[in-house]
Amino acid sequence: MNTIVAIVGRPNVGKSTLFNRLIQRRDAIVDSVSGVTRDRHYGKSDWNGKNFSVIDTGGYAVGSDDIFEEEIRKQVDLAIEESDIIVFVVDVTEGITPMDTEVANLLRKVKKPVFMAVNKVDNAMREDDAFEFYNLGLGEYHTISSINGSGTGDLLDAIAKII
Ligand code: GDP
Ligand code: MG
Repeated sequence: MNTIVAIVGRPNVGKSTLFNRLIQRRDAIVDSVSGVTRDRHYGKSDWNGKNFSVIDTGGYAVGSDDIFEEEIRKQVDLAIEESDIIVFVVDVTEGITPMDTEVANLLRKVKKPVFMAVNKVDNAMREDDAFEFYNLGLGEYHTISSINGSGTGDLLDAIAKII
């Protein structure tokens, strides 16, 4: 069985950076400008002897805020449909944004496993800032830094455990 893990979340939270780390290749386009990852990227990964595919859901059209949100909704719907496991990425430096709440509302209805990853927790001081993400109503979260790799091993352990 090929397990598919989809990475979802609003633009600029670090989805592509996490994707690159998970597949250990520089396939996805990462940029500091919001929404520049235009295509969906697929990669293969393995952890603790478990193989899985990873989807980086980019594909955001740059347009008005409405189109933007509609686009994200589409990406999340598609990810929900075609994946077995979802990783929902949020950004500790920005806190909860309305778009995070929207995505969380979609994910709360999903029967598939959802792992919330609070990204950009680059140092211990940011751990406390992550508490607010409990308010999204998705339960436990993993604090990670996709840039320096802290926490990503624990996240992968949790994912591999259910594959
Ligand atoms: P995406 O739009 O969700 O795919 O986000 P990207 O992966 O393109 O990252 C957006 C920006 O956040 C880039 O400038 C990244 O270098 C930065 N970024 C990603 N992960 C981290 C992290 O763990 N810590 C910090 N400080 N910045 C990060
Ligand atoms: Mg991206």
